Amino acid sequence: MQRPWTLVLLSAAATIATAAVAQPEHRPPPADTVILNAKVWTANPRTPSAEAITVRGEHFVYVGDNATASLFIGDDTTVIDAGGARILPGLTDAHIHLGNAAELLGSLSLRDATSREDFLARLRDHANTLGPDEWVIGGRWSAESWPDTRHPTPEEIDEATGGRRAALVRMDGHMLIAGRAALLAAGITRDGPEDPPGGRIGRTPDGEPYGAIYEEAMALIRDLIPQRSDESLRALMLRAQRELNAYGVTQVGAIETRRTLERVLAPMDDDGELTLRVHASVSEQLAEPLEWQAMFRWCFENRQMSPNVRVIGFKGYMDGSLGARTAWQFEPYLDDPHDHDNAGMPLSLAERGDLMHIILGGAQMSLQPIVHAIGERANATILDWFANIPASTRQRVRPRVEHAQHVRAQDLPRFAELGVIASMQPLHKADDGRYAAQRLSEERLQTSYAFRTLIDTGAVLAFGSDWPVVSPNPFLGIHAAVTSRTLDGEIFVPEQAITVEEALRAYTRGASFAVHYNHETATIAPGFFADYVVLDRDVLEIPHDEIKNVRVVKTVLAGQTVHEAP
Ligand SMILES: [Zn+2]
Repeated sequence: MQRPWTLVLLSAAATIATAAVAQPEHRPPPADTVILNAKVWTANPRTPSAEAITVRGEHFVYVGDNATASLFIGDDTTVIDAGGARILPGLTDAHIHLGNAAELLGSLSLRDATSREDFLARLRDHANTLGPDEWVIGGRWSAESWPDTRHPTPEEIDEATGGRRAALVRMDGHMLIAGRAALLAAGITRDGPEDPPGGRIGRTPDGEPYGAIYEEAMALIRDLIPQRSDESLRALMLRAQRELNAYGVTQVGAIETRRTLERVLAPMDDDGELTLRVHASVSEQLAEPLEWQAMFRWCFENRQMSPNVRVIGFKGYMDGSLGARTAWQFEPYLDDPHDHDNAGMPLSLAERGDLMHIILGGAQMSLQPIVHAIGERANATILDWFANIPASTRQRVRPRVEHAQHVRAQDLPRFAELGVIASMQPLHKADDGRYAAQRLSEERLQTSYAFRTLIDTGAVLAFGSDWPVVSPNPFLGIHAAVTSRTLDGEIFVPEQAITVEEALRAYTRGASFAVHYNHETATIAPGFFADYVVLDRDVLEIPHDEIKNVRVVKTVLAGQTVHEAP
């Protein structure tokens, strides 16, 4: 629907611009905003840079030089001298969990806990603010950041929470640790239950649960926690959105439940409160293929929920994470203290092969399949499954592998061959890079986070954050992709580093292609939506180590300012 219209606008704008140059006395209709003396990186491969932009209504009308842009100045035009500031297209985060991020803003964040003692102290302070029957929820901790990586015991957690039920999820959402009170509430004892498919209850050799609950077993506890109200989630969502706009993000590939879309995001848009373009992939814990079919029908009927909320597809999971040692590999992890044969595992739908049929069914309905795959075996298998989608359908739906973190050398060129998008989160490289070498052999690391090889073999690379797993600040991601520095400041797999421009492309054109909105957004060119950001320094010129300090001065969505630095 949008495409022909965009093209018409594009050519109309081009005609105006040409006419304006040829006959300056016949001025084009004035623009609402004209920005002069800027350093614009347009993301448009034909004209990558410009010194001026003009905006009328929601769109760019002219992008080019100061003299021509000045012809668009009328009596009511806002004229801005950018003073040489760097301007980029609004950034697209291809992989984000808005509902989860909002939830985390309303619960205890243990992301910055520096040790087990610090973790327990923060837990104690937070629990003291709660009623005796309230659950203690939150987490996003990473024991990999602690000097001693042993997890707290259930008894230590109960002691800190004053006996309240506590469930604290690891940063990647692939495991949680629970106190004894929560374990008992879920009926998890020495006597049972057995591990559910695709999940595991951590037990000592004599069968005692030690508090760690992995993957699909987390539902045993999660199902007991009361849901937050829509109003409360919406208030938190507004905070999450402000944070994204402040980082220059104007568009997201959002991984959401139907509830969050229906009851929070679409109503926000209807009330004029949404300042993000949301392209959603529905992700829910559905066990049965019939439930998936019903979900697909819902997706199909809700492709355009509101002007800025679209449903583009669905998310499936092949495996877990490197941090939880649940990513599905061909070789065992080198450092599992409990199980020397642990090579991770497929999640239950993937193990049964149901996920392949689900993917084919969704793609047939023109829904985009996006599938989480971190380990080498998970990636090899999902590429095989995507290859089963008929080529013309594949081209239409643009299947994505989410994370594509550890991929065998022979599988990397298959992304380009099959037209599969590599949707990756460069800040994970900085994070996991701290301990990946303990877990995986040297050979395995060479093709980990293979940004360089994927680009060189012609794949579309889309960048995102995976917020709330890590910060949604794209400049931290660009810094990680360009410098190969881990959070500890070490250099990790530098042969897969890319340039700043390549990283920007992955946060603009690559990511907008991944969310099926590349003809409308993420490029500063006539006819495209006027989504752009102004930076406090030139990300393309400064030393690479400074990129993480870039601040966004102003964020504009469809010609409207949605963030301005104080
Ligand atoms: Zn994610």
